[in-house]
Amino acid sequence: MDNKYQPTIGLEVHVELKTATKMFCHSKNDPDEKRPNVNICPVCLAHPGTLPVPNKKAVEHVLRVGLAVGGTLADYTEFDRKNYFYPDIPKGYQLSQYKYPLVSGGKLAGVELTRIHIEEDTARSIHDDKTGESLVDFNRSGVPLMELVTEPVIHSAKQSGDFAKELQLLLSPLYLNVSEANMEKGEMRVEANISVAPVGEPFGTKVEVKNLNSFRAVERAIEFEIKRQIELLDKGEKIVQETRGWNEGKEITFSQRQKESSHDYRYFPDPDIPKLWLSEIAEFKNLNETLPELPSAKRGRYERDYGIKVTDTEIFVSDPRFASLFEEAVKVLGEDKKSVQLLANYLTSDLLGLVKNDGVKVWPTGAAMAELVKMVSAGEISSRGAKDILATATSEGGDPRKIAEEKGLFQKSDEWELLKIVEQVIAENAAQVADLKAGNEKVLQFLVGQGMKLSKGSANPGILVELLKKEINPAIM
Ligand code: ADP
Ligand code: MG
Repeated sequence: MDNKYQPTIGLEVHVELKTATKMFCHSKNDPDEKRPNVNICPVCLAHPGTLPVPNKKAVEHVLRVGLAVGGTLADYTEFDRKNYFYPDIPKGYQLSQYKYPLVSGGKLAGVELTRIHIEEDTARSIHDDKTGESLVDFNRSGVPLMELVTEPVIHSAKQSGDFAKELQLLLSPLYLNVSEANMEKGEMRVEANISVAPVGEPFGTKVEVKNLNSFRAVERAIEFEIKRQIELLDKGEKIVQETRGWNEGKEITFSQRQKESSHDYRYFPDPDIPKLWLSEIAEFKNLNETLPELPSAKRGRYERDYGIKVTDTEIFVSDPRFASLFEEAVKVLGEDKKSVQLLANYLTSDLLGLVKNDGVKVWPTGAAMAELVKMVSAGEISSRGAKDILATATSEGGDPRKIAEEKGLFQKSDEWELLKIVEQVIAENAAQVADLKAGNEKVLQFLVGQGMKLSKGSANPGILVELLKKEINPAIM
C-alpha cells in the first residue's frame, strides 16, 4: 500500500533565542521565570503609544544561523505586522517578518530551507478547568523567536526527526549557542506540514500538525498523519486542509481548525520600527569569523582523517568534550588506524558509560588516554585491566601507568614464569591437550583461559597462545 503514495513534509520550526532582553523592549528574557507577569513592561504588554526597538543580538543570532546553513543574508530588512485577534496578543498583531526575511535559502541535513526570520513570541494563556478562568502570563510576550521554514522536500518521518535533531545540535550551546533549544521546555517547537500524493503526481493537500514538543512526537505524529491520509485517499475521500493537534497520550492527531490562508493576516510593514540596512551595521560585518567548526564539517573531517566508526563520530560531534579529548590523544598516538579506533572505543563505550553512571570526577587528559591505549596495544595490560585503570583514573585521578603498577595489572610476559603456568595447564587438562595434539584448534582458547585463570588474569594471553602451541602442537599456525 505504502509505495503507491509519496508523502511530502515541510517543517516550520520556532526557536526561542537566548538574549538578555526581549525582542523589542528591555524586559528580561528569562525562560526559567516561574512567577507570572514579572518580566514585563508597557511595550510587551502592548500599551498604546509605546515604541518597539529591535534587539541587535537577536538579529545577530539569526544571521549566524543563516551563515551556518549557507543561506543568503538580507542586505535590507524590515518588520511586519501580522494581524490577528487572540487574548495572548493584545496588540492585535504579532511583529514578524514577511517580505524581507533575514535569511533566504540554505540547507541543513540535506534539507533545503526556504527562509529564516524573526518574530516575537506571544503571551501564554493558562486555562483553569476548575474555576473556568483563563489567565494570561506576559513573561513570554515579546521574547525573540527565530522561525525557520523548510521547503517541502522531506519524505519520511525519520528524515523529519533527523532534521530537527541536527537543527537543535547546531543552535545549542555546543555550537552556535543561540538557544538552549530544549523541546520539552518549549524553547524549540516544531510544526509539520504533511501531504500525501500518488507517486508521480503533484503534491496533495497539506495538513499542518502543531505543538510537537519532542523528537518522538515529531516522528510519531508524521507517521500517524501519513497513514491517516493514505487511508482516506484509498477510500476515495478528500484530504481537508486544516490545522491539527497532537494528542500525546493517544498518539493521534485531531482536527483543530481550518487553516487561514496567509492573506488573512493583512501583513504590512510596522511604521514604528526603523528599516535596517544590515550590511552597514558594524557588528554584523565579520560574523563568519564567529562560527565554530560546524557539525557537518566535523563529521567530514573525522571521516577523512581518522576513519573511525560512524557511530563513534556521532558521539564526538554531539559532545565536544569527547571530541577534544579524542583529538588530543590522537596527537600523541599518531595515525595508526588500529590504535585510533581502540582509543575511540575506550572513549565512546567505557568513558561514556562512566559519565552516564556519574562515575567521572576527574576528566582524563589526552596524554593519559593515549598512554592507556599504548599499554593495551603493546600487550602490557589486558583490556579488562584498561577498563579498571580508566575507572580509577576518572574517579580518583592519577597516571595510568602508576595505577597499573599499584593494582598489579601489568601482564606477565616473562616466558619462564609463563612456561610454569603452561606446564600446569598441560598437566591438569590431559583430554584437551590430546585434542590439540590431534589438531583440534578449538580447544586452544579453552587452554588459554585456564592459563589466565591460574595467573589471576595477569598473564599476557598472546604469549600464552604461543607457548601452548610450541609445547603441545608446533604444527598449528
Ligand atoms: P502556507 O501559505 O499555508 O503557510 P507555505 O507555502 O508558506 O504554506 O508553506 C508552509 C510550509 O508547508 C512549508 O514548510 C512548506 O515546505 C510546507 N508545504 C507546502 N506545501 C506542502 C505540501 N503540499 N505538502 C507538505 N508540505 C508542504
Ligand atoms: Mg507560510
